[in-house]
Amino acid sequence: MIGSGFGGLFATKALRDAPVEITLVAKTSHHLFQPLLYQVATGILAAGEVAPATRDILRAQRNARVLLGEVTDVDLEARTVTSVAPNGATTIAYDSLVVAAGATQSYFGNDHFAEHAPGLKTIEDALDLRARIFGAFELAELEDDPALVQRWLTFVVVGAGATGVEMAGQIAELAHRTLKDNFRRIDPTRSRIVLLDAAPSVLGSFGERLSTIATRQLAAIGVEVRLGLKVVGVDDTGIDVVDHEGHGQRIESMCKMWAAGVTGNPLGAQLAAASGAGTDRVGRVEVNPDCTLPGHPEVFVVGDLMALEGLPGVAQVAIQSAEHAAGQIVRRLQGEETGQPFRYKDKGSMATVARFHAVASVGRIRVAGFPAWVMWLAVHLAYLVGYKNRLTTLLHWAHSFIGRGRAERVVTRRS
Ligand SMILES: Cc1cc2nc3c(=O)[nH]c(=O)nc-3n(C[C@H](O)[C@H](O)[C@H](O)COP(=O)(O)OP(=O)(O)OC[C@H]3O[C@@H](n4cnc5c(N)ncnc54)[C@H](O)[C@@H]3O)c2cc1C
Repeated sequence: MIGSGFGGLFATKALRDAPVEITLVAKTSHHLFQPLLYQVATGILAAGEVAPATRDILRAQRNARVLLGEVTDVDLEARTVTSVAPNGATTIAYDSLVVAAGATQSYFGNDHFAEHAPGLKTIEDALDLRARIFGAFELAELEDDPALVQRWLTFVVVGAGATGVEMAGQIAELAHRTLKDNFRRIDPTRSRIVLLDAAPSVLGSFGERLSTIATRQLAAIGVEVRLGLKVVGVDDTGIDVVDHEGHGQRIESMCKMWAAGVTGNPLGAQLAAASGAGTDRVGRVEVNPDCTLPGHPEVFVVGDLMALEGLPGVAQVAIQSAEHAAGQIVRRLQGEETGQPFRYKDKGSMATVARFHAVASVGRIRVAGFPAWVMWLAVHLAYLVGYKNRLTTLLHWAHSFIGRGRAERVVTRRS
């Protein structure tokens, strides 16, 4: 298994009773529950609550071992995977390979934006953003010039999909509720939180009704939604945008973040080149209907790195495609016919807008407000790994949503 995200972990777990020896190699020693990363970035949850150690999750699974390493090469002919760690390289031979290396942030060819508008994909990203957000309030308190104060207190989130909406919503709640009485010179409630996107709607994939409700709710909690604006420049002190008619404007802001696009992990391009497989426009590997790499029935590409029938990069696709790959491996071991196509069961999608307010789209059902928020809470708790994590997460949620505190506000010099 390459990767310890949803794909790598669920493929490994699905093989717990199979007569196989599994090596899971990943460049981090933790499994990451990405859907709650924004809560680490905004001080609600601790890093460990969304990123438990992979080897601890798999401690009872005797047929699995976990290795730390960044995979740099897959030799499809020799059937080996080479990974590197600070103390050297390791080469692992395989009979079957599941590649679940995920996706990375895309700046649509403007990678230099990353320095001033970081994305949210890893624990490091979340801690970096947390430092930028809480740091902005601290530095605003030190300024005398009202224009500079406002520049520190203007937060811009690029990308009005689920991650962008959740980030903007939580920064607004932070500014308006949590930090209310924390400062003496600045008034955090005067913060400006701008959510912008080139698309014409917020949460477009949720349909018009939920999109409208989410936009209204964002406005109610103080988020300024700016649509139809394309980012053309990001620097230390602001962000430049143009509208459809080419009119440009600048938003002065010290704290920007990027939640606008993804691209397949570079390992995907390497595998595609070696096997002759295609990649889609965001660099995901085009696989056969059974999730195998063309010409290599022993290699599966699953999750965010897989391009199959336009399936989205969401946790359920990663989990189900990983379990499908595991099922195919078992069938092959048992001498049964393989090659069954992967069938995705869409369990719906949801996004929180503010505390006690979410939108959820499940089949034909569209729910918004408190009932959707309760659904969101139950689903996220159910998928969080580990009893202790669920308990402490619940306590932190009570602290932040019923109360108005944020337990995780530590900012270190490194972050
Ligand atoms: C901020 C955010 C919010 C999200 N919210 C939701 C949501 O609300 N609902 C939802 O369904 N989905 C959500 N998603 C998407 C969901 O998290 C992904 O679809 C899912 O994590 C994909 O699983 P994966 O295993 O394919 O990849 P990942 O979970 O990204 O895992 C990739 C793994 O591969 C490892 N890796 C990468 N490159 C290498 C290498 N070269 N060598 C070794 N290891 C490597 C990584 O360390 C990681 O362990 C969100 C994603 C983000 C970033």
